Amino acid sequence: MNNSSSRVVVITGGSKGIGRAVAFRFAEEEARIVLVHYDPDEAESNTTLNALSKRGLEAESHRVDVSSFEAVDVLFKDILSRFGKIDVLVNNAGITKDTLLMRMSEEVWDTVIRVNLKSVFNCTQAVIRPMIKQRGGRIVSISSVVGQIGNAGQANYSASKAGIMGFIKTIAREVAARGITVNAVAPGFIDTDMTAVLSEKVKESFMRQIPLGRMGKPEEVAEAVYWLCSGAASYITGQVIHVSGGLYM
Ligand code: NAP
Repeated sequence: MNNSSSRVVVITGGSKGIGRAVAFRFAEEEARIVLVHYDPDEAESNTTLNALSKRGLEAESHRVDVSSFEAVDVLFKDILSRFGKIDVLVNNAGITKDTLLMRMSEEVWDTVIRVNLKSVFNCTQAVIRPMIKQRGGRIVSISSVVGQIGNAGQANYSASKAGIMGFIKTIAREVAARGITVNAVAPGFIDTDMTAVLSEKVKESFMRQIPLGRMGKPEEVAEAVYWLCSGAASYITGQVIHVSGGLYM
């Protein structure tokens, strides 16, 4: 079904949750999809791949730690050598390791910053030269509402997500003249494995703060990501689009 004119879309953290929904959204245009995940258990990524292949899509998944500069470099060189281009990068991989600052170890701080923020540097740098040569490309990074408003117990996570907001605005300025747009989507409280582990008390407290009165669906985030990568958003760069049911406004 795919051909060489189909867009090549790389989605980190594409095995499940928001990343999976983004992959399914791009599947509607018959893109060639490359997923990246890190869990040695391939069950989730196989579920995503099987669903994509049932739709006749050309898709593949790689187990790579996006926080490793070297591993990302090798992966992206391989993708570029086989596909010849990358049209879209979605920096979506992320983790939480929540605890109050007074109890936060250096390791817990460093791990979250590496996986959530350094990964965005690693992957964006890996695609930027080829996109400049192509004179076009779309980069969307998944930030979070807590990067804007903070959240007790998430100093590492909110710092990583605020870092993404500063990063994308800078890179947007650096590459705008080359036809590349660089944006972020900041989800609020979305129904995925990441939030499933929260206690009912924390969930209820979030819910009380959401004007639309419910959790978001991964598909609702995916729609914003897809739109930013579409022709309709050709004049939008350096922006953070909040998909949070009004949690931040
Ligand atoms: P999720 O269901 O836990 O999915 C996280 C994804 O990231 C998985 O595919 C996971 O793959 C991948 N990943 C984690 N560490 C990785 C690493 N070192 N290298 C490569 N891949 C890695 O979480 P989600 O809710 O969909 O979150 C997706 C993004 O949205 C994250 O950046 C998150 O911070 C952000 N976000 C989520 C919410 C929410 O309410 N859910 C709100 C705001 C922002 P493996 O499991 O295979 O490692």
